[in-house]
Amino acid sequence: MKNFYLLALFVILSSCNEKKLTDKVQQSSHQGTIYAIKNVNIIPMTKKNKVIKNATIVIENNKILSINNSIPNNSITIDGADKWLISGLIDMHVHNLSNGSFSKGYPTRGATLSFDTQNQMTPYIANGVTTVFELSGRIGHFKQRDEIGSGDAIGPRIAIAAVIDGKGNEIVATTPLEGRQSVRNAKGLGYRFIKVYTWLNQDTFKAIIDEAKKQDMKVVGHIPKAFEGEPSENFFIPHFGLIAHAEELSKQTNNFNYEKAKEFAQLAKENNTWLIPNLTNMVWIIKQAKSLESIKNLTTLKYVHPLMQNKWLTSNRYNKNATQELIDFFQKQANFHKMIVKAFKEAGVPMLVGTDAGISGIVRGFSIHDELKLLVEAGFTNEEALTSATRLGAEWLEINDKIGTVEAGKFADLILLDENPLEDISNTRKISGVFVNGKWIDKNKIDTMLSNVETWNDNNKKKFQWKNRNEL
Ligand SMILES: [Zn+2]
Repeated sequence: MKNFYLLALFVILSSCNEKKLTDKVQQSSHQGTIYAIKNVNIIPMTKKNKVIKNATIVIENNKILSINNSIPNNSITIDGADKWLISGLIDMHVHNLSNGSFSKGYPTRGATLSFDTQNQMTPYIANGVTTVFELSGRIGHFKQRDEIGSGDAIGPRIAIAAVIDGKGNEIVATTPLEGRQSVRNAKGLGYRFIKVYTWLNQDTFKAIIDEAKKQDMKVVGHIPKAFEGEPSENFFIPHFGLIAHAEELSKQTNNFNYEKAKEFAQLAKENNTWLIPNLTNMVWIIKQAKSLESIKNLTTLKYVHPLMQNKWLTSNRYNKNATQELIDFFQKQANFHKMIVKAFKEAGVPMLVGTDAGISGIVRGFSIHDELKLLVEAGFTNEEALTSATRLGAEWLEINDKIGTVEAGKFADLILLDENPLEDISNTRKISGVFVNGKWIDKNKIDTMLSNVETWNDNNKKKFQWKNRNEL
C-alpha cells in the first residue's frame, strides 16, 4: 500500500517535471529556428509604405533578419503566395482582468479569483494583436507581462499605465502635491505611463501632467469633469499626450457640430495631443442600451471569461439605465465622434486604434477589426487605418525602433493575411497565421487555442456567476 502511494506521488512529480521539460524544449526549439516566408506581398507600414511584391522575408529567433536576401539552409519555409504580410496590430486601449478578490481578505491571503493569462491573451493573438496598452494598470498586469516574457504564455507585448483619479480608484489624488507624489510613486513601482481620470480637480490634473513630464512618463487619459463648460484651452496643456476616447471631447460640449470638432482638432494639433477615437465603444453602448439581445447574439461572447459574460448579461449598467432620451443622446454623440475623426484627420492630428477591450460588449482581439472598419467608415483610408493600428501606436509608445513596421531588425510581430487589407479593411480578419515575437502560430494552432478558451469558459459558467462574486 505504501508503495502504491509512493508510486502515485512519483507519477505526479514526474508528470510535473515532464510538463516543465516540454515547455523548456518548446522554448529552446523556438530559439534558433529560422523561418522564411516566400513569395509574399509585404505591406511594410513604413512612411513610404510601398508594397514589396513576391518578397522573401527571413525571421530568426524573435527578429526579422532580412527582406529579399538569401534564405539560410536550415530554415522552415512558409508559402506566402497570394498572401499579404502586415505588422502585428496594436490596441492602444485595453482592460485585462487581473487576479484579485471581491471579498475582504486577511494580511496573508492572496487573490481568490485568478484569471488564466493564456485564456485572456489567446483572443488577441488569434486576431493578430501583438501589442496592447493596458489603461487600468495593476500589479497583476506586470505578472501577466512576465508570464508572456518568460514564455509561460503566448501573448502580446503589454504597455501599462497607472490610473490616477480624484476618487473611487486605487490611486487617488485630490491636491497638486498628492498628484505629484502619486506620479513619483507610480514610477517607483515600475509604471512608464500615467492615465489621468475623470474625477481629478483642475489643479491636480495639471500638476500630475507636469510631474509626469519631469519624470519622463507619457500621459494618456480622460478629460476631467471639472473642465466641463470651460474653454478647451484649459485642458489642452503641454504633455497631455493622448486622449483615451473621442467621448472625452463630446462630454465637454453641447455643440455637436463640425465647427466645434475643428476647434478641438486645432487645439490638439497645437498641443501635440493625439487621439484614440475609440468609436467601437459608443457603438456598443448604444447597442446594449437598446437591447441585451446584442450581447446574447454576440458570436465572440464565448471567448469572454464566464464571470464577465454573466455580468454583461445580468448586471449591464448601459442597459439598466437606458431611456429612449439617453439612447438618442448617445446617437448624437456617436455622430459627433465621426465629425471629430474627420476634423482631426484634416488638422493632421495622429489618431491611434484603441477599443476599450474588456468593457462590456467589447471582446479582446476581435474588437480591433471592428474599430478599423469604423474608422474607415468615418473617413480614414484603409492605409490610414492600418497605420493607426501599427506604426503610429509604436511611435506614441516610443518603441517604433522595435515594432510597428515590417523591416529588417524589428521584432517579428507579423500577420500573414489571405487577402489584401489595402483593398478592403475587413481583410485584416482573414488571418492565415501570426508571428508573435518570432513564434509562428498558424491557423490550425489559432483555432485550437481559441477552442481551448471556449471549452474552459463553457465548463466554468456555473462557477462564475456575477451575483455570487463575493463568494469567489
Ligand atoms: Zn477604457
